[in-house]
Order: sequence, then C-alpha cells, then structure tokens
Amino acid sequence: ITEAEQAVLDDIEENDIDFLRLQFTDILGTVKNVSVPARQAEKAFAEGIYFDGSSIEGFVRIQESDMRLVPDPNTFAILPWRNREDGASARMICDVYNTTSGEPFEGDPRRVLRNALDRAHEMGYEVNAAPEPEFFLFEEDEEGRATTTTNDAGGYFDLAPKDLASDVRRDIIYGLENMGFEVEASHHEVAEGQHEINFEYDDALTTADNVATFRTVVRAIAAQHDYHATFMPKPIPEINGSGMHTHISLFTEDGENAFHDEDDEFNLSEEARAFTAGVLEHAPAITAVANPTVNSYKRLVPGYEAPVYVAWSDRNRSSLIRKPAARVPAASRVELRSPDPSCNPYLAIAVMIHAGLDGIEQDLECPDPVRENIYEFDEQKREEYGIDTLPANLGEAVDALEEDDAMFDALGEHIGEKFVEAKRQEFEEYLIDVSEWELDRYLETF
Ligand code: GLN
Ligand code: MG
Ligand code: MG
Ligand code: MG
Repeated sequence: ITEAEQAVLDDIEENDIDFLRLQFTDILGTVKNVSVPARQAEKAFAEGIYFDGSSIEGFVRIQESDMRLVPDPNTFAILPWRNREDGASARMICDVYNTTSGEPFEGDPRRVLRNALDRAHEMGYEVNAAPEPEFFLFEEDEEGRATTTTNDAGGYFDLAPKDLASDVRRDIIYGLENMGFEVEASHHEVAEGQHEINFEYDDALTTADNVATFRTVVRAIAAQHDYHATFMPKPIPEINGSGMHTHISLFTEDGENAFHDEDDEFNLSEEARAFTAGVLEHAPAITAVANPTVNSYKRLVPGYEAPVYVAWSDRNRSSLIRKPAARVPAASRVELRSPDPSCNPYLAIAVMIHAGLDGIEQDLECPDPVRENIYEFDEQKREEYGIDTLPANLGEAVDALEEDDAMFDALGEHIGEKFVEAKRQEFEEYLIDVSEWELDRYLETF
C-alpha cells in the first residue's frame, strides 16, 4: 500500500466516511460512478472494483463487458453537498482496466489524456493547463425542471443587487474549496444569468479531473438554491454563449517554462510558436472534440466573443488562440478560445496537447499574429491574410476529425471510432428534425 493510499484510508477513518463513489467518465464526458461501502477502499486499491461496462456509453461490446476500476488516491475528496449527519460520502476518480487482459482500457478517456502526457514526457515536457468554464443559471419551473429564464439581468462583472447569483456562486466556491480547489476568481459574465469561475492551473490530468468535478459541484449546489446550472454552449440565441477557454503551457523537467522567452516580442519561445502552429494546423479536427454538440456551433459565430477564424493574436478576442500578457515567466502560456464546457475535458485537452506537440516535432512555422478584429474582415481580406474558418457545424467538424490522422490517432482507435459514430448519428438526428424556427418562418408563409 502506497503512502497516498494510506492517507486516504486515514481520511476515511477520521471523517467517518460511509460511502465511496468511484468515478470515471464515458466518451461523452459524463461522470459515471459506482458507490461502494468505504470499508472496501483497501480492496479497491489492491485489486480494483469490478463492474459491468456494457451499459456505459461507448465502452465495450456486451460480450467483453467486465471492467475494473482502480481509484487514484490523489483524487480523494469528501463530497460537500451531502448532509454529514447521514454519514459522509467521498469520491475518487478511477482509471479503468480490462479484466481479461489486465491492461488499461483503451476506451477510458483518462487513459487518452495519460497517453498525451506520456508523449509530452518523452519529449521532455510536463503539461500545465487551466480552464475558464462559463455557465448559465436558470430558474426552475414548478416541477423542478429547467427553464431558460435567467436568474438575473446582470452583465460583465456586475455586482449585487443586479447579480443575484452571488450567493449561489459563493456557495459553489465554498463547495469547490472543500473539495480541494483553489478558486482564483469568479465573476458575472457578459450575458444575463451567465457566470464564470476560474480555478488555479495544475498539471493537465488534474485539470481535466477538476473540470469533470466542477460541473458536478456547480450543478449540485445550484440545485440546492433551486436553480438549474447549464454548461450547454449556447442556450439563448443572440447573446453570448458559454465557452471554456483553455490555457496551456509546457514546462521542462527542471521546472522552467518552455513557453517563455524574455527576448521575444510576445515573450513566446520557439517551442510556444511551434506548439501554436500545431494547434492552428489541427484546429478543424480539434473542434470536433472541443465542441462536440450540435449546439456548440451556434456559439462559434461572429459577434459574441467566440472564435470563428483560425488565427492567433496577443490581444484581440476574435482569434482562436490568444497569447495573454504574462506578469512572470512562469505564466507564459497560450489560450485556446474555442473549447466549450460541453466537451469531454480529458479528450479535449489530449487533442490540444497532441496537436501542439506535433507542431514542435515537425517544427511548424507559426504565422504572424492578427491584431485586428477578424469579425470585421470580409472573405477577401481573410483570404489575403490566409485565415481559415472553423467547421461550421458538427458534421463538418467530424469530417475534419476523420481526415486528420494525427488527431484521430490521438483518441486511439476505440474512442476515435465510437466518437465519430456517436457524433455522426447526433448530427443526422438534428438534420432531420423540424425546428421551432422553421415552423415560425414557414408554416403560415407557404
Ligand atoms: N462567452 C465567450 C465565449 O463564448 C467568452 C467571453 C469572455 O470570457 N471574454 O467564448
Ligand atoms: Mg475569463
Ligand atoms: Mg469568460
Ligand atoms: Mg479567457
């Protein structure tokens, strides 16, 4: 038994934990969990917990459905929204193994990210990442179902009384802090009812775990206040949608930020530029993973601070990648602005890392930054600058993913195939649907 595992056993004892939720995510990023009595913790570390994976999205075929969950002791956290008097619960995030082969299960998204980190490691890098998840708080109707009535009419950085959610946000932050998050900042976002909470950067695996946890905590605590929190990318047309900007940097093994160069105009190292070039190169395929819903593409339109064009910049917010000003060398990083919070964070961060490393490996040339507002460019001007457009819808994005071998391989064959199949089907269902918009527009006209 390792030191970290022993620490968990001690915590269980000290805090009177009755139940352990063993968590993992399916391909779509939905958190799944198996609850076991806390006294099974030692066994879980030693042998893992067996479960039937056949009913988990995209996991396995029925005939080979036995999986084994092995909890990662570093992810132990007591669930803050459970009433302590009825016995506390804690969770751990697990890696998934195949029972027959004993190997890591290739359908486990956490494994896909571990593979990306292994590749970075072989190249001499550690990867740090930080997300900026945005979400809406909506009122519930009498039956407790979500509506699209926002909880307030506040705007960017508004304070109470217009920002009625500050109570909810405060409780969410307490909840997150109880689970070990270091919350950096939280504020009301641009749209009414829209909020953002930023937490401290961490190694990429911890960050992906954190995003999965974050969404669960936000929804659970909002519900306690009778609000529905949604990470749907564009719940209301004609106002800003919710993004999840993701900041990435590479550190060398001796703790230097490989993205920082004191002498460069933008403080970007050669590696940072090549990484950026790689992400730009693979941007269409990344979009399928970082923007995986039909609704994601309602956000990626001009005029709402979301990216549409494949370019980078040190300042404007219409570009896909931004180089934020860094006060200290350690903070030099690139910010990818396309991801939205409906993505599977493990897969999205994994493809970003692979794309960037590909840029470094191939020594790709980074184009010049575009410092003007690209939303205002016409097609001719974009052509002149050589600026491509992101896929316009989920169908185009999935095509791009299938055509990009490096990005498809980043997901591995198992997840790559299941992902493409699920997303094609989702897009086809959408295509044959007849929407409210069509009825409003045509029913009485024709
Ligand atoms: N909500 C915007 C988006 O969709 C981002 C707004 C911001 O953080 N400046 O990406
Ligand atoms: Mg922000
Ligand atoms: Mg924001
Ligand atoms: Mg940002």
